[in-house]
Amino acid sequence: MLVGRELEKLHVHRSRKRGPGQGVSIIGVDSRGKHLLITFSDGVILHTHLQMTGDWRLYRRGERWRKSPGAMRAVVATAEHEAVCFAAPTVELFHPAETAERPWERIGPDLCLDEVAFDSIMSNVAATDQRRHIADVLLDQRLAAGIGNVYKSETLWACKVHPMTPLAAIDDATRRQLYETASNQLRSNLGNWRRATYRGGLGVYGKSRQGCPLCHGAIRTAEHGEGLSRLSYWCESCQPRHRG
Ligand SMILES: [Zn+2]
Repeated sequence: MLVGRELEKLHVHRSRKRGPGQGVSIIGVDSRGKHLLITFSDGVILHTHLQMTGDWRLYRRGERWRKSPGAMRAVVATAEHEAVCFAAPTVELFHPAETAERPWERIGPDLCLDEVAFDSIMSNVAATDQRRHIADVLLDQRLAAGIGNVYKSETLWACKVHPMTPLAAIDDATRRQLYETASNQLRSNLGNWRRATYRGGLGVYGKSRQGCPLCHGAIRTAEHGEGLSRLSYWCESCQPRHRG
């Protein structure tokens, strides 16, 4: 609905950079992992990274936003529509002449493709700090793109690996199995509104009260990652804690 249309208005929250020129059109809207890129015909790119909180909504011009205007981080308007980005932690403009590193080009191989580059994922994982916990490693989009909180928890449960296991304690076969499992789960859910990884539902994610569907053991949760912003679910007995 935006691609091919002329840009009428662009607002980027707290940006000191000049926007695209007069009369440009929108030539692309692409997502790479959680990066969303809007490309204008003069080569300027609006980059947003949505992380956990951000999202884009599309409205007709003049339609009331159904989210707080205070959370607005960017607006891209054509004659008919207004795409509004709310609450994204990263919203920035890139000009074609700029040599600054483009964060979305740092992302690893896409796990949602039919042919996943598992060998390069394995070498990316081998090159990262081996003291990192596997839960953080799986979420690191620079190593492989696609795994969020839900698939991280579901994959670790399916492979019977405790989320706080240091990478050094996980052998190559298990590493590969983790990424293959995540890729299978992601691909089988493409286009599905309701995520399913186990018998039409989820195994452990969000299931603290139900208990483990395999062993009826207790499901534990813990926050981890930068600023403890990520939540992991795991089964106490299927995924014993690594001792070492
Ligand atoms: Zn269990």
